[in-house]
Amino acid sequence: MLKGKAALVTGSTSGIGLGIAKALAAQGANVMLNGFGDADAIAKVRKDVEAAGVATGYSAADMSKPADVAALVEACVKELGAVDILVNNAGIQHVANVDEFPLDAWDRVIQINLTSCFQSIRAALPHMKKRGWGRIVNVASAHGLVASAGKSAYVAAKHGLVGLTKVVALETAASAITCNAICPGWVLTPLVQKQIDALAERKGISGAAAKAELLSEKQPSKEFATPEQIGGLAAFLCSPAADQIRGSSFSIDGGWTAQ
Ligand code: NAD
Repeated sequence: MLKGKAALVTGSTSGIGLGIAKALAAQGANVMLNGFGDADAIAKVRKDVEAAGVATGYSAADMSKPADVAALVEACVKELGAVDILVNNAGIQHVANVDEFPLDAWDRVIQINLTSCFQSIRAALPHMKKRGWGRIVNVASAHGLVASAGKSAYVAAKHGLVGLTKVVALETAASAITCNAICPGWVLTPLVQKQIDALAERKGISGAAAKAELLSEKQPSKEFATPEQIGGLAAFLCSPAADQIRGSSFSIDGGWTAQ
């Protein structure tokens, strides 16, 4: 379905981004990988994605640095010949109440989770327009639709990303470029494992008990969504069936935001 397309997935060395990279590769897209990790781990990630019979590129561009974001888009065009699909996935979390939230943590979360998405879209759109086709998929969150205490910067960034998605969709509405958002609930990735470990330590409970508590608080299915499921939704949004899906946000959250 995506044979010959070039996909750039930010933050794709682990978790949801890697799940999306594999799902796009399974449809034939060549993938530009990005994110942190040691050389061995990144070599393994590349091999895993290439197992689908596609080419990969890799860049360690840091989404906290605006110049790196633009350079990442250009590196994708240089290495894979285009940027047909852009998945803005890199993200970080910081948990603290507003009156104790460090100013630099606020800036970092907003830059990586929101501003870098604006910067990558800004850099990628001219390339998509030139080729007359494009898919932009922004990985927002259930926290793009509802809030939780302690996550002011993350919730503000993800709500902002849902808004940015709508604007880009309107500006590209008369073209074959679409822009949509995915809003996952809890997915068991390193980002969430850190929150489980913190909860277990704070309450003096086991990791398994902390996992169960995290899920029962927000996610009625009491099961994690998986990177593979998020990848499946991203691949669908890149398919012809999704040609007229524009500016939408898709919950994949075990019922979290249905409450
Ligand atoms: P993760 O920590 O497993 O992976 C994050 C990826 O981003 C990694 O590849 C990491 O190297 C990369 N990354 C981090 N900072 C970066 C930076 N400055 N520059 C470039 N790459 C950077 O996290 P995840 O859970 O897979 O999260 C991926 C996205 O999904 C994030 O935007 C997150 O907000 C969102 N999300 C996650 C969940 C969840 O439950 N895990 C739920 C909703 C939304």
